[in-house]
Amino acid sequence: MHLDIACIPGDGIGPEIVEQAKKVLNAVLAKYGHTIEYTDTLMGGCSIDAYGVPLTEETLELCRSKNAVLMGSIGGDAKVSPWYKLEPSRRPEAGLLALRKGLGLYANLRPAYLFKELADSCPLAGKDGGRNFDLVIVRELTGGLYFGERYTKEIDGVMTAVDTLSYNENEIRRVAKTAFEIAMKRGKKLTSVDKANVLDTSRLWRKIVHEVGEEYPEVELSDMLVDNCAMQLVKDPEQFDVIVTENMFGDILSDEASMITGSIGMLSSASLNESSFGLYEPSHGSAPDIAGKGIANPIATVLSAAMMLRYSFGLNEEADDIENAVKKTLADGYRSADLMPADPEKAAGMIGAGCAEMGDAIAARL
Ligand code: NAD
Repeated sequence: MHLDIACIPGDGIGPEIVEQAKKVLNAVLAKYGHTIEYTDTLMGGCSIDAYGVPLTEETLELCRSKNAVLMGSIGGDAKVSPWYKLEPSRRPEAGLLALRKGLGLYANLRPAYLFKELADSCPLAGKDGGRNFDLVIVRELTGGLYFGERYTKEIDGVMTAVDTLSYNENEIRRVAKTAFEIAMKRGKKLTSVDKANVLDTSRLWRKIVHEVGEEYPEVELSDMLVDNCAMQLVKDPEQFDVIVTENMFGDILSDEASMITGSIGMLSSASLNESSFGLYEPSHGSAPDIAGKGIANPIATVLSAAMMLRYSFGLNEEADDIENAVKKTLADGYRSADLMPADPEKAAGMIGAGCAEMGDAIAARL
């Protein structure tokens, strides 16, 4: 197969971590007899510096013309970077929102997987046999409160702010379908999260998700209220396989779920549209505090590249190969600075590795 993708290294540690993801992709694709072409483009702060805007029409068009986009991260340190003196609509993050919208990426997937080798980083209290969870949150990304009408005005002498939460059945149906498809490829268990005891949008959400569920009799579907889900994620994350929820609930729950793995440098993400097109990026930001030092952990980006092979190209064996190579690298004791245990006794047996060394170690284990 020939893979033709756009690549947005971005700002801060973005170029360093994307370079390692390309290294691993090149190695796995060569092993299986595939070829890949990357077309690099600018987005975020580097695009502001070059063109005065965080996302140009040309970059958007380029991304649309490819099968997938692999991204590093964008943005800078808001306290010192001149990018943050600009109007909010011209800042780096506005480019990412416009790109997601322009590409119609309505489903955001964030896995939260606890690597056995990093179990000590999990902030949750232990369980008999140790913690062991592997879940994915599917978040609706282009509807709901973040995209509804909003205004602030004085009404009868009182300042009033209004944000509108609306969903139509089509928006719910398509993301529900995506979530059921993902559940079919995993543990066939789907938890739909809403606030149906209060919100009309949630009652419609629940009704439509159950309608879609009739097409997937093999998937065990259950509903959970969002406040309960927030508790269950820290109490018993092992109970979840796939969670599907609306935009704002998903924003909050996916950050909560990622934090219980205890390691921000490990978390991949994918944003998908109705076809197999996707934008793949780590969940973390551009880490300006460590940019250019060669110490960033590239694993989240490498795992995002594996998600790209799985979801945009159907290359499951190749994706499994990357994930296993990451596990072997950790099992062999390689640790980037963020993964190094604070306890000197535990750190003693580990191999300290910079960004490029981690990439080399993963590629060598394919
Ligand atoms: P951040 O995720 O960049 O960094 C938080 C902390 O985690 C920092 O100490 C950083 O050094 C560390 N860290 C993050 N990724 C790491 C990695 N791969 N390896 C080792 N350590 C890592 O969050 P922040 O500092 O709040 O944001 C910095 C910039 O990134 C801001 O401009 C923000 O808007 C942007 N941002 C971009 C995205 C994106 O591109 N999708 C996402 C979140 C934040």
